[in-house]
Amino acid sequence: MITKKRYERPVIKKLESNMPNKFGMRTEYEPVLHIEDIAIKDLITKYGSPLFVISEKKIRRNYQAAKQAFETRYPRVQFAWSYKTNYLNAVCNIFHQEGSWAEVVSGFEYDKAIRNGVPGSNIIFNGPDKSEQDLRKAVTNNSLIHIDHLDELYLLQEIAKSTKHKPKVAIRVNMDTGIFPIWDRFGFNFENGQAWDALNKIMFTGTLELVGLHTHIGTFMLSPNAYAVAAAKLANLAQRLHQKYDHEIKYIDMGGGFASRNTLKGAYLPGVDTNPTIDEFAEAITSALINSDFRPKNPPLLILETGRALIDDAAWLLGSVIANKRLADGRRSTIIDIGVNILFTAFWYAHKVTPAQKFTSYTEDTVLYGPLCMNIDVIRDNITLPLLNKGDQVVVHHVGAYNMTQWMQFITLRPKVVLIDQNNKVHVIRNNETLENMLELEALPDHLANFDL
Ligand SMILES: *Cc1c(COP(=O)(O)O)cnc(C)c1O
Repeated sequence: MITKKRYERPVIKKLESNMPNKFGMRTEYEPVLHIEDIAIKDLITKYGSPLFVISEKKIRRNYQAAKQAFETRYPRVQFAWSYKTNYLNAVCNIFHQEGSWAEVVSGFEYDKAIRNGVPGSNIIFNGPDKSEQDLRKAVTNNSLIHIDHLDELYLLQEIAKSTKHKPKVAIRVNMDTGIFPIWDRFGFNFENGQAWDALNKIMFTGTLELVGLHTHIGTFMLSPNAYAVAAAKLANLAQRLHQKYDHEIKYIDMGGGFASRNTLKGAYLPGVDTNPTIDEFAEAITSALINSDFRPKNPPLLILETGRALIDDAAWLLGSVIANKRLADGRRSTIIDIGVNILFTAFWYAHKVTPAQKFTSYTEDTVLYGPLCMNIDVIRDNITLPLLNKGDQVVVHHVGAYNMTQWMQFITLRPKVVLIDQNNKVHVIRNNETLENMLELEALPDHLANFDL
């Protein structure tokens, strides 16, 4: 049977061949065929698409480099892994094997750290929502409790009175570090005297053991100097405690928030080229501490809770092309099987996306859509890519932070996560979800069990 071919409106598009982009750089369209020597094709064939892939080697290297950056500049340093950044057990345990404590912000994360085998005294308990039950557990386990508000301070004092323990506490301090916006919703403010007031309340009642001072000034911070200001302000509080009470705190916890190598949406240049390195953050923080009134004989332990900067570039998200189509205005659009439900960070990062097979030299500005039937499902609203065909594969880079915790089950089920170990052996560290998993939590009232259509 002869059928007439469907008519498609012709469009004229400028194709570019190996041209630098408007920043004078050739970016984003080198193919990436392997991760740690494992062919992406093989990974997708074996574990499905989409697929999260994490490199153990890269995590360890990032950690060791960060540790070295601080330890070469300051005598006593301790890292605590921020669970909310990525709390897959395999990931947490890599950090714990390297020597990291755990930093948690909920009862759920606290229990996860305990189950992973972290000693209670090596867990830092942050966040505004700690229930009385959570606090009692943390007090009994000798964990480090970072007080967020006065209600929590008073509750801890009651708990201390009704148990034989003296809770080990720090206060979280927020402050003006010269950046906007100020994160003033967590902890006690430095400038208006709240922080000093909270410290006096702790020192006067004597039921709590004040062991440290904590701050976490923001996330994806691009200014090392903001940390220098913050460290100097915490050192000032420590000095005043020393003067007034002859009390020495044991640690200064500078939190996390160092920018990773990702590129923020709207940034003019790629983050790999412009974002400060860990060494620059280390230099700012340690200089502020050693230039303060602390003495070299017994300096406080410097704790860091850095999350995204240690893991972002240690994970990739592999996916496949579902279809191509022309938008009404003639722009090319490509639909891939990676949606914002599993790539939450697409909302604020211009993620680097590369094809996972060889291609011709022609490129075109493309809109990259996810598979969800939702208008917000855009992975990149403008990216220069070669022409990809249905079934071709792509790699999204720098996805290690926050995606595997903030992802949601929405429209589709969440995919597998695999870890490539240091011998290039692949392990599934989180299975894909199934319909059964979802139904397990649901309950159907009897009267809704049947219908007749
Ligand atoms: C989220 C968080 C961190 C980690 O932040 P990153 O931006 O991932 O480095 C550290 N400390 C606290 C208190 C946090 O809430």
